[in-house]
Amino acid sequence: MKTEILTVDYNDPQLNKAIFSKAAKVINTGGLVAFPTETVYGLGANALDGEAVKKIYEAKGRPSDNPLIAHISGFEQLLPLVKEINENAKKLMKAFMPGPITLVFKKTDVIPMQTSGGLDTVAIRYPENRTAQEFITACGVPIAAPSANTSGKPSPTRASHVEFDLSGKIDMIIDGGSCEFGLESTIVDVSGSVPCLLRPGSITLEMLKEIVPDIKVDGAVLGALKDGEKPKAPGMKYTHYSPDANVTIVRGDIEHTVAEINRLLGENTDKVCGVVATEETKDKYDTENILVIGSRKHPETIAANLFKMLRKCDYKGYEAVFIEGFPESELGLAIMNRLKKAAGYNIIEL
Ligand code: AMP
Ligand code: MG
Repeated sequence: MKTEILTVDYNDPQLNKAIFSKAAKVINTGGLVAFPTETVYGLGANALDGEAVKKIYEAKGRPSDNPLIAHISGFEQLLPLVKEINENAKKLMKAFMPGPITLVFKKTDVIPMQTSGGLDTVAIRYPENRTAQEFITACGVPIAAPSANTSGKPSPTRASHVEFDLSGKIDMIIDGGSCEFGLESTIVDVSGSVPCLLRPGSITLEMLKEIVPDIKVDGAVLGALKDGEKPKAPGMKYTHYSPDANVTIVRGDIEHTVAEINRLLGENTDKVCGVVATEETKDKYDTENILVIGSRKHPETIAANLFKMLRKCDYKGYEAVFIEGFPESELGLAIMNRLKKAAGYNIIEL
């Protein structure tokens, strides 16, 4: 299959109209279109068409028990999909939608099992990104979409990442530039009486607590689960975001972190090693193989660059990668959640 790549241009409304109408045709005939959102690129199919949704799992190599998020472009699209919208859900919708949050509701029969991965709930997201909204609106149906990467690899934050992973396996990529937040959406389960954070993201636990103070946190958010423990978001149990290299996170105060990473570099001279450093530390390492992930003073830059840097580790052919750790508060919770998974929980605490 030839994958068509179409680039939107907000100075050219005619061009965009033609792109969205072509993309809608693909979706309405059961095909796959990758599209940008403010979090990461999604791989979309008609969420109401089980056969179309199956193709997403095939293209990504995604396990079939890992459900997809249904994307909408207006609240009126939500009502047929969910059984009830409780007070907590209403408060979170008012505070954060449209935006980088996904809410899990009890589903109606309109949502096929392929979309919900066999669960009786459905995850709903209303993205804020203009291209995402215009694409979904043109399709006229909710769009089931996981991240548009090969399963297990870092999520895509540029159209080129999608092309690298999925070219030849999907019908179309809409190129809308780089993603603003760069981490997948915060997921909150609102299907029960107490809301529960299933996956941390750019809408932080601290922000959620201001709206729903009694929110719980699923065990999978902080660390590796013990044998027999199950995360509530099935996707949280899979290895993720892994570069081919062996990844180690080193966490402590900056001075000790730098010293420990330099010691590890000295110990691993037989391998091609890379360091994922910050603006504050980039000149302190005994190697030229430095990837700067962002500034510690601006964690949002770290979030926005994180997946791009993990991909770069592969493009550069690193065999061992040492990454600086971050405190697990505010945006740091989501950043560390992704980094720990990329490292297979291989972390040195100083
Ligand atoms: P992705 O968009 O690739 O990050 O994948 C979607 C994420 O949402 C995965 O971690 C899924 O496990 C999670 N998810 C989707 N639907 C549900 C649901 N009904 N209940 C809990 N988690 C869900
Ligand atoms: Mg994903």
